[in-house]
Parts: sequence; structure tokens; C-alpha cells
Amino acid sequence: MLTPALSHQGSYRGRFAPSPSGPLHFGSLIAALASFLTAKSQQGQWLVRIEDIDTPRVVKGADSDILHTLEAYGLHWDENVIYQSQRHSLYEDALEHLNQQSLVYACQCTRKEIKLRGGFYDNHCRTLNLPRSGNALRLQQHFPIEKFHDQIQGLVHIPKKIAHEDYIIKRRDGLFAYQLVVVLDDIEQKITHVVRGADLLEPTARQLGLFEQLGNCAPHYAHIPLAVAKPGFKLSKQNHAPAIDKRNPIPATLAALRFLGFNPPSELTTATIEEVLAWAVQSFCLDTIPKVQEKPMNYDA
Ligand code: GLU
Ligand code: ZN
Repeated sequence: MLTPALSHQGSYRGRFAPSPSGPLHFGSLIAALASFLTAKSQQGQWLVRIEDIDTPRVVKGADSDILHTLEAYGLHWDENVIYQSQRHSLYEDALEHLNQQSLVYACQCTRKEIKLRGGFYDNHCRTLNLPRSGNALRLQQHFPIEKFHDQIQGLVHIPKKIAHEDYIIKRRDGLFAYQLVVVLDDIEQKITHVVRGADLLEPTARQLGLFEQLGNCAPHYAHIPLAVAKPGFKLSKQNHAPAIDKRNPIPATLAALRFLGFNPPSELTTATIEEVLAWAVQSFCLDTIPKVQEKPMNYDA
């Protein structure tokens, strides 16, 4: 089992990494707030990174809308906002570095073929030496992680087949894959703690393996429960979750705090957003965050 590094040089550095595929909704507010409060309760830095690598999913103007919303909610970030779309040379260099170690290979398997072979990639093309152009690139998995410790979810087990899969680091369409760039960015931004939604729990194993492969110390991970409108319906841009109200941040913030296990006093309903956040930073404790959503959502805007 991989034990998280005991000490990171320097202080706490957290981040919020939204994909600009739409406005911030209640689910993403919870993730932003949880990572902000964890960082600020440790006197840490909180960075924002716009994950616009998947260009077909990018919605024009969504990045600035997200940033304005964060400001309206009092979630002020440290340092400059990073855009993945402007960091191709960092990603190319890393790909080249892995390539020189003969860890990268081209794969032409379609989703359908993989499904027919059982739904997991069986490293079929590893030794075929296929041409790169027009094919996806996969990374040989030499650091499979079958379990790890999450600061909220506890010990997480990863199915063996997923842990051992050679996964895609550059897509057939030429775009770098999330799995690769998220780790490169977390390394380059010296992130020590990642707090994000539990939909990213399984990909964390690959990310931990990639940190090892690259000879870097991995951050600590804490995965907050996903907000579901009703069982099985994650609040997401794909599910058309409504945008949160930029003009009235208090109700959504208080609802997000309750979701995260806080018990905000009723006076805060009439407080300023700065007062609400100051109270939350003071009262913050990772241990009160539930592993799964406890109550049905009582907030629908
Ligand atoms: N960009 C991802 C998302 O919006 C989050 C990635 C991460 O926090 O690692 O779902
Ligand atoms: Zn293949």
C-alpha cells in the first residue's frame, strides 16, 4: 500500500480545478468551498486552475463566469490563475521524457473492441509497435496502485484490472488526457493537498502511480461526497444542474456548509459572505465531512 508522504517541504498548497464546460453549480460550489476552507484553515495557499485541455467540452466565456462566481462567493485565490490550454510545452516535454524511457505506445483499439474484451484494457497493443499518428498513446503501468488512504473516505480499494491498465495519456484526436496533465500540473504547482469530489476517487490511484513513475511526492487526497439531486443523479453540468446565483451567495454557501457537515448558526443568514467564510474557516474540521451525502438536498437553485 502506498503511504502518503509524511512531510511536504513548504506549507499547505491546495487547488480548485474546474473544467470550463459551464457555470458553477451547487456541486462544484461544494468542491470549491471544501478545498478553500481546508487550505485556509491551515493558513495555506489556495490556487485556481482552469482545466480547459478538453477543448471540445470548453464553453466560451465559462472560465470568466466561473472566476466571477468564485469572487462573488468570497473565494479569493492566491497566485495567478493557470490555464491548461497555455501549457502544452510542459505536457509535450513530459510525454517526451516518458517516451525516451520506452514507456509510451500507440493503441488503435476502439471502445467497442475493449468492451468486447471485457471492458478493461488488456494492454493489447503494448508490443505491436503501431504508428503514433491517428492512434491514442498509452502509458505502460509500472506503478499499479490497488489501495490508498483518503483523508475522508479512508482506505480505498481499486479493482485489480483498473489498477493494472495501461491508460491513455494522449487521445486519438491529439488532445492530452486529463490523467496526465492533472498530475503534471499538480507537480508543477507544488500542490500538497487535493480536496475534490468523490467522482475522482478511482482516477486517484492512477494519479498516485504517475507521481511515483515521475519520481515525485504525491499530494494528500480528500474526496468529498458527491451531491446528488436524487439517488443516482449527480449534480453536474452534463445533467444541467442550475448555475448558482452570483448576486446572492449566502443561501447556497450555507447549504453547501450544511452539506459538508457544518452547523451554521442562524445569525449567519443575515451576515456578509466574508463573515460566513470567516466563521467556516474557524469551525472547519475535515473529520466532520461525511463520507456520503447524508440528507436529500434542500437547495435547488
Ligand atoms: N477538472 C476536473 C473537474 O472539473 C477536476 C479535476 C481535479 O480536481 O483533479 O471535474
Ligand atoms: Zn490497443
